[in-house]
Amino acid sequence: MLKDSAQYVKGVGPQRFKILNRLGINTVGDLLYHFPRRYEDRRKFVPITKIEVGTYATVKGEILKTGLRRSKRGLSVFQIAIGDDSGIIEAVWFNQPFMKRYFKIGQEIILYGKVERYRQLQMNAPEFEFISRSESFLHMGRIVPVYPLTQNVNQRYLRTIIDRALQKYDSYLSDVLPGGLREKLNLLPMNLALRYIHYPQDFAQRDSAYQRLVFEEFFLLQMVLALHRRRRKEIELGIAHRAEGELVTRFLQSLPFELTAGQKKVIGEIEDDMRSKRAMNRLLQGDVGSGKTIVAAYALVINAQSGFQGAFMAPTEILAEQHYFLLSKLLMPLGVSVGMLISSMNQRSKAQVLEDIKSGALDIVVGTHALIEQAIEFTKLGLVVIDEQHKFGIQQRSLLRKKGFNPDCLVMTATPIPRTLAMTVYGDLDISTIREMPKGREPISTFAIRENDIKSAYAFVREEVKKGRQAYIVYPVIRKAKLAELKAATEMHERLKKDEFSLFNVGLIHGQMRSDEKEKVMREFKDKKIDVLVSTTVIEVGIDIANASVMVIEHAERFGLSQLHQLRGRIGRGPHPSYCILVTEPQTDKAKLRLEAMLSSQNGFELAQQDLDIRGPGKFFGPAQHGESELKIGNIARDMELMELARREAFGLVQCDPHLKASQNYALKRILSEKYGSAKINLLSA
Ligand code: ADP
Ligand code: MG
Repeated sequence: MLKDSAQYVKGVGPQRFKILNRLGINTVGDLLYHFPRRYEDRRKFVPITKIEVGTYATVKGEILKTGLRRSKRGLSVFQIAIGDDSGIIEAVWFNQPFMKRYFKIGQEIILYGKVERYRQLQMNAPEFEFISRSESFLHMGRIVPVYPLTQNVNQRYLRTIIDRALQKYDSYLSDVLPGGLREKLNLLPMNLALRYIHYPQDFAQRDSAYQRLVFEEFFLLQMVLALHRRRRKEIELGIAHRAEGELVTRFLQSLPFELTAGQKKVIGEIEDDMRSKRAMNRLLQGDVGSGKTIVAAYALVINAQSGFQGAFMAPTEILAEQHYFLLSKLLMPLGVSVGMLISSMNQRSKAQVLEDIKSGALDIVVGTHALIEQAIEFTKLGLVVIDEQHKFGIQQRSLLRKKGFNPDCLVMTATPIPRTLAMTVYGDLDISTIREMPKGREPISTFAIRENDIKSAYAFVREEVKKGRQAYIVYPVIRKAKLAELKAATEMHERLKKDEFSLFNVGLIHGQMRSDEKEKVMREFKDKKIDVLVSTTVIEVGIDIANASVMVIEHAERFGLSQLHQLRGRIGRGPHPSYCILVTEPQTDKAKLRLEAMLSSQNGFELAQQDLDIRGPGKFFGPAQHGESELKIGNIARDMELMELARREAFGLVQCDPHLKASQNYALKRILSEKYGSAKINLLSA
């Protein structure tokens, strides 16, 4: 079976087995899933004189000459010349004199590398493989797989044992995808998919093999999410809230503005969830400034009207305070009591709040981590709201929920992530999205300038501050490293204070400060005691400082696109026109793309999608986010459509057969239990 040790394959003895282990190969299954990192088309070779300088190319020829010499700077240079009927190319290796041992004049060889031209055509340290004139069909005359290697295994060995494994285990390569599904989607059977991913006869075959394997991987992931959600909806009975009532009506009447269509839409979705007797698990995503807080307030009002207490958790004290003040202002007049719990409060006030929560005197408590750290007892917790969800782990979410009996849960994030990514990261949450901004927002004007023109940016900041505005100046690092050219927040703070902004109050905030120090600085900024705030990326998420209308981001090429967008979201929150100045010298194509995107769009979702396209998915995930780490083959950015297809099919299947009882789903059920461990088997049981 596929769980057999790889030693069952002929040619894998105990020693080789140890070496294969270093490649993560223990079982036959691992071996078959050791996929090529590229392919070489050895059906016919391009003549040496026809290869293009500057590209990666494969050439075949005979070794004509070898030689070891020293360069002027004293490096050893090992060099060979190979030729075919058309011409000659050289390969060089610097500082690897031992390479000499491998090559003999007259040998047939294949080289793969980047082609350059000096006096001769040349490749620097190319990959190489010796071949014999009567070569086996595995290595020549076809599209040949090229694998990731480690020391003491070469391509030819891996090709040989993988081919053997494919033959010997062919009949065990059964399908876990239900037959009907495979036919409907026109996917290859498993044994062929694996054969073609290693040994395709043409590239179309390789592509359909890839599709099939990626689909299966995504499908299994989506099955787990679908089953998880299904199960939760089945078992987790929660609270059926009452969404209509006098309190809600009065709340709506008291709002100082008209809700946007987007806010109304998500409110509708939240209402439906809250009315239902299943526990709500909803993610509310909306760009910075799209007005999520008021939506949360609305949910808290429904909750209070239904006679329950609500908890609202924010990642920092200053944000918690901001929410507390807003909710007090909106809700106290309606007779809803709001309290706050943060660590920096004195013992007596804390004890009082805890007492009021326990007695039921408080309807809503707003706080920080303190809400889960303190020994809080609610009388009847009915709704948990978590702001800026990415700052908290899933554990913290559930810790807070456990303070009640299956309360509804609403988590909010201003980090928009593209849809496919949301499908995996937040796969088990229902998602509501606000796509538009409240009317009357002044757009932010974004400019890019070169380092040479930085003085003009500082002059502009001075003008704005004289008008009464405040500004952020952002740097990529906290302290200057030796020799590095990068400007750093700490040093620039000293300089700007003395020079450019000597007439103003200049503050500093960065990630290595204690959190109470950070809070203090943010508060001073909010209270306008600081005019210009020098910072790194730590500037609070979600903080609403309407008077700050200018942001200068130095070395902007150092930041990711989503990060730049989040930073820019700190301004443009008030009635004043706002300006974001990116100081940058983009060197790479990617950096240029990011800059163009920032200049042309202010839509977080669009930018997040572009960011994903530019960077690939890796960086998007914090540590051990659900799902992604398990993906071996597929690439979420590239294979987005497959992910959507897999999700549709998986959720559809769970809808029809929630416990996978139908016989055609049996193999699927088994693999899910195996793959996702005993803890998750109960996903499947009735
Ligand atoms: P975020 O989604 O980033 O948390 P906030 O909830 O902090 O955004 O809202 C940003 C600002 O927009 C706040 O000052 C809020 O009062 C205001 N706001 C929210 N909804 C509306 C609306 N429908 N019309 C006008 N202003 C609104
Ligand atoms: Mg917010």
